[in-house]
This record gives sequence, structure tokens and C-alpha cells, in this order.
Amino acid sequence: MAPSLEAPDNVEDVLDNPLKTSPNLVAPEPEHCPGPESEAAGKADSCAGCPNQAICASAPKGPDPDIPLITERLSGIKHKVLILSGKGGVGKSTFTTLLAHAFATNEDNTVGVMDTDICGPSIPKMMGVETETIHVSGAGWSPVWVLDNLGVMSIQFMLPNKDDAIIWRGPKKNGLIKQFLKDVEWGEMDYLLVDTPPGTSDEHLSVNSFLKESGVDGAVVVTTPQEVALLDVRKEIDFCRKAGIKVLGIVENMSGFVCPKCTHESQIFKATTGGARGLAKEMNIPFLGAVPLDPRIGLAADYGESFFDAYPDSPACTALKGVVRRVGEEMGIKAEVILPED
Ligand code: SF4
Repeated sequence: MAPSLEAPDNVEDVLDNPLKTSPNLVAPEPEHCPGPESEAAGKADSCAGCPNQAICASAPKGPDPDIPLITERLSGIKHKVLILSGKGGVGKSTFTTLLAHAFATNEDNTVGVMDTDICGPSIPKMMGVETETIHVSGAGWSPVWVLDNLGVMSIQFMLPNKDDAIIWRGPKKNGLIKQFLKDVEWGEMDYLLVDTPPGTSDEHLSVNSFLKESGVDGAVVVTTPQEVALLDVRKEIDFCRKAGIKVLGIVENMSGFVCPKCTHESQIFKATTGGARGLAKEMNIPFLGAVPLDPRIGLAADYGESFFDAYPDSPACTALKGVVRRVGEEMGIKAEVILPED
């Protein structure tokens, strides 16, 4: 028979306890074993006489004691939004910076960005703060402030050399994400945007479990129009549904190319199966809008500038204004990009 993953781990248990690992047993689990990770491990009647009893009894159990501390630390943040993508290279981190700058165009808003892409932290470069370091005070780690009302936290600020590779296994990544939530002085904020790496892995599981108590408004899923990208978006949406995360909607990025000279639009990544709009309909989730591929977005990211300030008249800026409005509607709030000439 072909190998199959039809009987995976208990999904609820993995989502709720991403850090839980099986104790190192010295003998196979006997027939009536309640499970070495269960609350009854080592204490149940069936554990009597089992060679693993001492190991199972002393293994950590129950909810993470840091969750209440995280909930308290984030209590001043009104809205928390996850930015997800099924696949890499679709412009997720770029979209996160655009959304952060968009919210920050309203001077009354305070916006935070948490970069949980531990192995590929690109937010600091896109925000123009790549060479900054974290300041530590008695109150905790301070975010790096890009603007008076826009702060960022990323592992990039902790690297001795900016090109150092981060070669970490899951538990160490989870530990840093926990510190970003527990030890950073986020303070009073209107929005915290959590930029995640592509896929549904350690970082997503830990973000989901650490933020469950403090509450997440939902997730914005970013994709490009072609079916190869949409394939993985379906998995991302399935993850959100299993994890109980509301999908605020899907954004189609690089949706057509707008020539900066003549503003003519052509399709680079053809939507052979209906693109993000078709997928949104198929999966019954909101379609938040389509942002054209504009090389000036990449330029603004490379120079760490706000695209809204640099190219307010571009078609991509117009499209992004619509996306921001729709994100706000799905969150039940009014969200607008406020530019000086508007
Ligand atoms: S001690 Fe109990 S929980 Fe642990 S392996 Fe033995 S039977 Fe299973």
C-alpha cells in the first residue's frame, strides 16, 4: 500500500500544544497506555509497573504558564492581524509593510509589526531600519520605531552581522516568538501585524497558540494569481479553519503588470483557474482586492521608503487603498489610507 498521512497526529492537540514533545521513553508504551503526553501519564492505574512511569510522571503537562503573561503584555493592542501566504515569493512581507504604512498614514493610529520569519527576516530592510538594534530597559525590549507611530520587532535586529544565517530548529524559533510577545514593550497600539513565513509550520503553530487567549482579529492571506500559488493557499485556509483563525480575506498580489511609463496593464502570472477572486468564491472567503505588479513597490522596499509617500498617484496605490478599506470592513472598523492630497 502507498504511504499515506490519512491518520495524522491529533490536529487539535498539535495546534494547542505546538511545543509539547514526547518524553524519551525507555520502553515501548504498553497496551493500555493513556499516552505519554496526556495529563494522566505516569499516574494512571495502567501506568503501575511500567518502566516509563517516572519519566512520564515528571514530563511537563498542562497549559503553557507564559500564556497569561503574553495576554497581559498584549492587552493594550486593539487589533491583531496575521499575514499569511501559502507559498514564498508572493510578496507577503512586502504586503505587510504596505499595510503597516497604510494604517500609519492615520497619525492617530499606532502600528506594530512583528516579523516571525525567523530564517528570512526582510521586514527591517523594507522598513529602512535594517541596521538598528533592540534597546532593553526594565520594562522589556523596545520595538524599533520606523515612524513616531510605527514600530517593528525582528530577529534581524539581534544579528551580529546582517548576513548571518539563522540555523535554528523549531523549539528555538518558538522560544524567540514567545519572547517577541512576552518581553517586548508593545504598549498601547491600534494594530499589531504579525508577518509569518510561508506555509503552516512551527512559527504558525506557536503564534496561534500564544495569541489564542489574547485574541486575533483574523488573517489576511496573500497570493499571486497562478494555480501553483493557489494550491498552497487552499492549505493555508484549511489551517486557519482548523486553528479557529478567522480568514479576513485573500489579496491577489502581482495581479497584472502596470508599465510605469504608459500605465498599460498586462498579465505576467496568468490566472488560469480564476485567480484569488475565483478561489475566494470557491472557499467562501472575502476577496480583498488585486494589487498590480509595480516595480516601484520593489524599489520602495529596497530603499526602505513608504510606497504611499513615494508614489501616491500610482495604480498600485489606488488598489492598495481599496484593499485597506476592505480589510477594515472585515475587521468591523473604518480603515483608510490618508494621504496629504486626499
Ligand atoms: S508510564 Fe503510563 S503513560 Fe507512560 S508509557 Fe507507561 S503506561 Fe504510558
